[in-house]
Amino acid sequence: MSKMNLAEVLKKKMDSGQRVLTEFESKELLNEIGITIPQQKLVSSKQEALDAVRGIGFPIVMKLMAEDVVHKSDTGAVKLNIKNQEEAGQAFDDLMKISTASKKAVSVQAMAKEPITELIIGMTTDPQFGPALMFGIGGILVELLEDVSFRIAPITEYDAKEMIQEIKGFPILDGYRGKPKADINAIVDLLLKISDFVIEHEEIFEMDLNPVFIYESGVTCVDARIILKNE
Ligand code: ADP
Ligand code: MG
Repeated sequence: MSKMNLAEVLKKKMDSGQRVLTEFESKELLNEIGITIPQQKLVSSKQEALDAVRGIGFPIVMKLMAEDVVHKSDTGAVKLNIKNQEEAGQAFDDLMKISTASKKAVSVQAMAKEPITELIIGMTTDPQFGPALMFGIGGILVELLEDVSFRIAPITEYDAKEMIQEIKGFPILDGYRGKPKADINAIVDLLLKISDFVIEHEEIFEMDLNPVFIYESGVTCVDARIILKNE
């Protein structure tokens, strides 16, 4: 998809009145701007699900995409570590029972390997300063310690590096207790891509990449939500 098409996709969503993109749609867009995501396929029947599973390979993750399901794991809408066709079929049936929404589908996706740590990367629109970027280590650290950094977009490479280094949890990324060092350059690259994306597309109101998995080499975004402006 070219940059032009990306603008068209967003415009179509705006015109249709859909403000909150599903995880599947959000990650497709992220993938278009060069951010790595686990291979994913959207399916709406069990047969399609089983075919998709065969194409992707085990272990697999299946999640329900439905308007009334926002925090997916709270409602059982995330099935991790599916190891065979039988489990996949069962997971599809269980997921489809969760929501009564008329528009629902299942995202079949590759299960990403365990990261050094989970990261959170976000964007919110400040009424005064416009798009603001957020970075933090995922999980308990973000929630309990509010250990996050912010910058107004657009950011430079220098800003991105500062955002990463100034959080208290930085040692976790820097080879803490014999763990491998995380690929800081891959996070810098991701932050810059998000910065460019939100500057180029003013219709984006909010973005939430939660979590992003970070490795010794590379990152992959396993969950994302993009919210468009109301106008
Ligand atoms: P929620 O809507 O509850 O935030 P997520 O899509 O973030 O749901 O999934 C919950 C958790 O499951 C994630 O924080 C992550 O640890 C794990 N997870 C989700 N998708 C994958 C995946 N494709 N590979 C590996 N782990 C995943
Ligand atoms: Mg999540």
